[in-house]
Amino acid sequence: MAFVITSPCESEKAGECVTVCPVDCIAEGPDQFYINPDVCIDCGACVAACPVDAIVEEYEMTPDEEPYLDKAEKFFGNI
Ligand code: SF4
Repeated sequence: MAFVITSPCESEKAGECVTVCPVDCIAEGPDQFYINPDVCIDCGACVAACPVDAIVEEYEMTPDEEPYLDKAEKFFGNI
């Protein structure tokens, strides 16, 4: 299980999440920030730090949000 950064990040890219993550698994991509789902420990610290509520739990994703997990996996080369 992991947290996933979704569409609001694409227009905001605030980046506050990066500094609060205890395992340093959030990286900046060309279009948004990404959480590495293989490293995320599910602590939830990034959720509160995000000013645009872009971060959701994997199992709470809506159908519109599901592609963002694939995007993150591809960004980190996990698949
Ligand atoms: Fe990092 Fe915790 Fe957010 Fe996962 S849930 S990306 S470990 S801050």
